[in-house]
Amino acid sequence: MDLGIKNGNVFNGKGVVGKVNIYVKDGKIVEISKENKQAKIEIDAKDMFVMPGLIDAHIHLTGIKGGSLLKTMFEKPEYRVLRASKWLEKLLLAGFTTVRDCGETISLALKRGVSEGIINGPRIIAAGKPISQTFGHGELSHDVPLEFSMALSFSEFCDGVESCIRASRKVLRDGADFIKIFATGGVLSQRDRPEHPQLSYEEISAIVNEAEKINTYVAAHAHGDKGARIAVEAGIKTLEHGTLLRDETLKLMRERNVTLTPTLTIQELIYKYGKQIGVDEWGLQKINEVRESVVNVVKKAEEYGVMIITGTDLGFETGLEEIDIGKNWMESVLLVERGGLSTISSLRASTYNSAFAIGINAGAIEVGKDADIIVIDGDPTENIRDLSKVRRVVKNGKLTVEDGKFL
Ligand SMILES: [Zn+2]
Repeated sequence: MDLGIKNGNVFNGKGVVGKVNIYVKDGKIVEISKENKQAKIEIDAKDMFVMPGLIDAHIHLTGIKGGSLLKTMFEKPEYRVLRASKWLEKLLLAGFTTVRDCGETISLALKRGVSEGIINGPRIIAAGKPISQTFGHGELSHDVPLEFSMALSFSEFCDGVESCIRASRKVLRDGADFIKIFATGGVLSQRDRPEHPQLSYEEISAIVNEAEKINTYVAAHAHGDKGARIAVEAGIKTLEHGTLLRDETLKLMRERNVTLTPTLTIQELIYKYGKQIGVDEWGLQKINEVRESVVNVVKKAEEYGVMIITGTDLGFETGLEEIDIGKNWMESVLLVERGGLSTISSLRASTYNSAFAIGINAGAIEVGKDADIIVIDGDPTENIRDLSKVRRVVKNGKLTVEDGKFL
């Protein structure tokens, strides 16, 4: 055995299984038992909580400081990469062993940097450029001239079925692991509204078809019910935000196994601190309604059996005490404190559910899974905020972090 984690109280991604030892070889979990076996590296987790590594399934690794996303258009990518690489360190130190980037041009390079061992960080599943219609959420500002927007925004523009096929192939060619689309307006885009549908059924179907040809899927940003419904009917697999969803759409999501990422963190951040951190004026005006409405959506989703996953939607560092990059466990906290989920449901969302949704062989302490495991000095089933007390991080079978430092 390469690694043994012994005597800890284990949550396996679905529930608490109590005191068992976990053995790892060649990056995989190979045995879970009460037996005491020798391993090259042994971690004594007595009085500690052991669980799968955390997953943030909706982040934007922009490398931007402050709350104006417009800056992403005008700041040099080389500089943003440097900042984002620091974010990746913070995330891994905090126990995040996987993040899914839901749209950011530099994320593909960051992903390669991590997988080649050039920089420390969680495994990255990346969308690269998201797909947006003209006058869509992916433009951020609708006042800058269109040519500027097309050249500088983080999105790939498409209008019409042919154009959507072309855009899909382009982003997949760039190396995207999945395709991210904008199916409604949003909060941080200037002149559209969260309830406005964007892209048609035919356009989204064409994008889904291109993704499925290479065994991947489409993630859709959707606030309003109408646009969300069109996206679900067209075959998307993960629905992002979903703040204004109605019952019928939630039931359809359950039927079609579409997951929900409520992204409570970004809403809390903009609501509480938006002005302070410089969020563009239009964002401040639109936040209240979606932040109020999403609480009920989370409760209904849980009731109907829609799979809920964790994603902060953080796309900039804030310098704030409460919500910032590296404190992405805040989503699990908010799912309990605002969404009314049990602590176990919330932990399941950030591990087993998220791994299932984004298609990685992790998120569970089961034989055969990738050994992404964290050791916590506390008990998040008692107090979800104990997720902030991660002491050790095992990523891909390797003990990577000990007491807040990289090994
Ligand atoms: Zn997002």
